Amino acid sequence: MTAQPTNLSGLDLRAEIDRLRIERKAVILAHYYQRPEIQDLADFVGDSLELSRKAAATDAEVIAFCGVKFMAETAKILSPEKIVVLPDLDAGCSLEDSCPPDKFAAFRAQHPDHIALTYINCSTEVKALSDVIVTSSSAETILAKIPPEQKIIFGPDRHLGGYLNRKFGRDMLLWPGVCIVHEAFSETELLKLKAQHPDAPIAAHPECPAHIVDHADYVGSTSGILNYAKAMEGDTLIVATEPHIIHQMELAMPGKTFIGAPGADGNCNCNICPYMALNTLEKLYLALRDLSPRIEIEEGLRLEAKKSLDAMLAMASATVGQGDLGRP
Ligand code: SF4
Repeated sequence: MTAQPTNLSGLDLRAEIDRLRIERKAVILAHYYQRPEIQDLADFVGDSLELSRKAAATDAEVIAFCGVKFMAETAKILSPEKIVVLPDLDAGCSLEDSCPPDKFAAFRAQHPDHIALTYINCSTEVKALSDVIVTSSSAETILAKIPPEQKIIFGPDRHLGGYLNRKFGRDMLLWPGVCIVHEAFSETELLKLKAQHPDAPIAAHPECPAHIVDHADYVGSTSGILNYAKAMEGDTLIVATEPHIIHQMELAMPGKTFIGAPGADGNCNCNICPYMALNTLEKLYLALRDLSPRIEIEEGLRLEAKKSLDAMLAMASATVGQGDLGRP
């Protein structure tokens, strides 16, 4: 259970987190969608697999993963010898929730001639039921290596799967999951924003629906969008992904302007991930102090899930983490 942040008034949380980081031999990871104050004190900021791989390469004894549960589980799969804590165990993901392992197993059983290519945003159990995991950075490279005649189930994100189907002319069977954050972008409001900034390119995450991706000048993972922002010639970018990534953009490129793509009423907070937002400095402090809540995975399950992650790394080791899906 997640500890409640009580009686912490008067504590210098940043100093206490720094003290515990050393005392616990901990590495603090922050996903790009975390609130800025967490990004600013993390040892590494990045996307989910990149963070897990960086943490695995350290000699830290504790990983404090400021992200969501499937990300912390991925870190545990890659670093079973380390203690992995997640500041709030309720930090889930709508994509993971959309894909219960029993239903996924039944779907697979209905299509025995299909392999399962599965987006990393899923539970450890679903990873264990999959053949190859992909990230938004590696999906294109991996799909290009699978013969066109091979039938594929792609889950749980139907928008990423649909994007890949359109780009590669494939006919993958799509699990009907969505990211509630990327689903919330409004095409009408995006076009209004574009009319106000006609020279600003649009960069979109492939978890966005087709009616958003189709307007994008660049489609890619969070790392890919960040790299695109660094390389672009103009000084303004419209960003269609969770807006907390703009913090890293503004740190790296203070002279450029980054505008978050709007949601349905043009001014809502519906593009802020409610799961990521559950993590706070208070909960991070408590997680390091109490080494709880911990991520634990049964060893047989971990090894099964690791097979599909290893398959991904073997197929895409040259590109994983570079974040480039290119143009649609
Ligand atoms: S932004 Fe979407 S995909 Fe990412 S953790 Fe939140 S709900 Fe899941």
